[in-house]
Amino acid sequence: MNATILLVEDEFAVARGIEYALQQEGYAVRIARSGEEGLDFATQQAPDLVVLDVRLPGIDGFEVLRRLRAAGSKAPVLMLTARDEEVDKVIGLELGADDYLTKPFSLRELMSRIKALLRRAYGDLADATGGRVIRFRDLVIDLERRRVSRGERRISLTATEFEILRHLASRPGRVYSRRELLELVRDYESSLDQDEKTINVHVSHLREKLEDDPFAPAFILTVRGAGYAFAER
Ligand code: CA
Repeated sequence: MNATILLVEDEFAVARGIEYALQQEGYAVRIARSGEEGLDFATQQAPDLVVLDVRLPGIDGFEVLRRLRAAGSKAPVLMLTARDEEVDKVIGLELGADDYLTKPFSLRELMSRIKALLRRAYGDLADATGGRVIRFRDLVIDLERRRVSRGERRISLTATEFEILRHLASRPGRVYSRRELLELVRDYESSLDQDEKTINVHVSHLREKLEDDPFAPAFILTVRGAGYAFAER
């Protein structure tokens, strides 16, 4: 359930310090000592977030970032720049970095940036350490494993139900019209009935499975005349 973070950093002492701090927060950490190694790992293992040093032996951090994005990776990237060089920041952000920190930085600062990036990338309710897990009260939605549970109870959903829940829960309070939900889940099930009312049927099944009282839902709310929204914390 824990987010996996790839750290691309050639300086041993720096890498170990960051690794330790990340592990203390519950993250799984992989260290790459060069840009090439980092790229290999990033393409094979799809980490949830990448901490990328700019100054590396061989291909530098900018080139790693450029190739990562070219390969379609959307993982948030936090760049570590050696000096307070405006140029580095500009290049990094232009290449698709999500944030940067200038060395030397405090580990506390690094942790708070990482948490913010994970939240931004994987939803407001994303577990601070889990990244891809949405929690609301006793409801747990594991986006990676596509598992849903309430407390100890596993809840079995169809692919369409899961997709509807995933979209709603990723942005609590945001109202989705039936038309919009239909468009969003159609990618998953091309055979889906084109009628917007089909969404009502899926939502009512979802509620039967999730809610204590499907007629007084606590998770998936009806917004009259507009559509559905996931409850805000
Ligand atoms: Ca370095």
